[in-house]
Amino acid sequence: MASRMDLDGRPIDAITICMIGGGGFIGSHLCERLMHDTQHTVMAVDVYSDKIEHLLQPGQPWSNRIQFHRINIKHDPRLEGLIKMADLTINLAAICTPADYNTRPLDTIYSNFIDALPVVKYCSENNKRLIHFSTCEVYGKTIGSFLPKDHPLRQDPAFYVLKEDESPCIFGPIEKQRWSYACAKQLIERLIYAEGAENGLDFTIVRPFNWIGPRMDFIPGIDGPSEGVPRVLACFSNGLLRGEPLKLVDGGQSQRTFVYIKDAIEAVLRMIENPSRANGHIFNVGNPNNEVTVRQLAELMTELYSKISGKPPLENPTIDISSKEFYGEGYDDSDKRIPDMTIIKQQLDWEPQTSLSDLLEFTLTYQHKTYSHAVKQAMSQSTAS
Ligand code: NAD
Ligand code: UDP
Repeated sequence: MASRMDLDGRPIDAITICMIGGGGFIGSHLCERLMHDTQHTVMAVDVYSDKIEHLLQPGQPWSNRIQFHRINIKHDPRLEGLIKMADLTINLAAICTPADYNTRPLDTIYSNFIDALPVVKYCSENNKRLIHFSTCEVYGKTIGSFLPKDHPLRQDPAFYVLKEDESPCIFGPIEKQRWSYACAKQLIERLIYAEGAENGLDFTIVRPFNWIGPRMDFIPGIDGPSEGVPRVLACFSNGLLRGEPLKLVDGGQSQRTFVYIKDAIEAVLRMIENPSRANGHIFNVGNPNNEVTVRQLAELMTELYSKISGKPPLENPTIDISSKEFYGEGYDDSDKRIPDMTIIKQQLDWEPQTSLSDLLEFTLTYQHKTYSHAVKQAMSQSTAS
């Protein structure tokens, strides 16, 4: 492989990366990209490995560059040794599905704050670089959401665009336990930032804005618990695969911007390979051009899935449900998420490429190929019994 160049035209040295949470959705895509297109070595740490099993098979050209360590970072003394051996640690480990934030708030806070503390400490004490995955949810609600519904300033970007170095973090009251995740992520960001300021930790913080694509979460009853509630892509995929209406929480009026996982992984690769441009920064990574309401997302996915599967859509493809019924007590929502892209464009010259309809078409094609047979079988078994 010809030597790769960084954004300043310097050859990139191969490094060793300790990737915690490397067996998850984002981790699996990042491992794949690192194996296919670079010479870096990955020590993937996770409790699960099914999403990277295809990379761990012996006899692959990258076999000597990837190892899997089945470690729960909550209580495993091997973690510090792995961080010491690596040049860079990437921490992706988290409980990060909204259905858990209000129903398992303690696990959520421990996972996103307490369990991340030793990772930050080991990086700081051993002078190792850290890329930490936070979330766009640290912004919480937009300033505009507090204006009356038809107020003209709601249309003014100053009232909704989310900027890393300017926007406040606006969460709901404590009894809205939805915000336990955002608050824990915010505090670990502040701690990392303080380690940078007081102890010279080289850090980069990533705030993903709804990255989606193949291998995200699970299909309930197929490769995850039947009663489990994954994030919206998998919830809607599940409904489409089963021919059931898609549930719109509180009318599906919240807005999101979705970015294709492969575009987002390019941004992370640039962070990995351009430390002098990425260190000390917090980056929004999203696609401001791909904004829809959740209702529009459901409509678009229904139309695309019908084309992919060859089956006509249901007469009533969506159904409204209250957040209390869907998520339980203590749920709340982010109203709108438009990332400002100035800092990532300036530092890493990165821009997202893939349109919403293209990324949904790629992803739904994968979902159909991967799951339609198993869903059909599971449904026929449950009607037979
Ligand atoms: P994911 O759930 O697919 O991946 C997280 C991985 O961490 C899982 O494989 C899980 O097994 C592992 N993990 C959790 N606790 C662990 C522990 N104690 N020890 C070892 N491994 C553990 O989620 P993802 O979408 O890949 O998200 C990765 C990171 O990005 C998370 O920090 C999440 O908060 C953040 N994030 C993602 C998105 C998105 O759009 N996908 C949005 C916002 C933030
Ligand atoms: N949502 C929905 N139906 C579902 C799952 C999610 O209407 O079956 C909504 C949810 O209330 C939120 C949005 O879709 O407004 C995105 O939810 P997701 O779980 O993907 O995570 P979030 O973007 O809120 O972190």
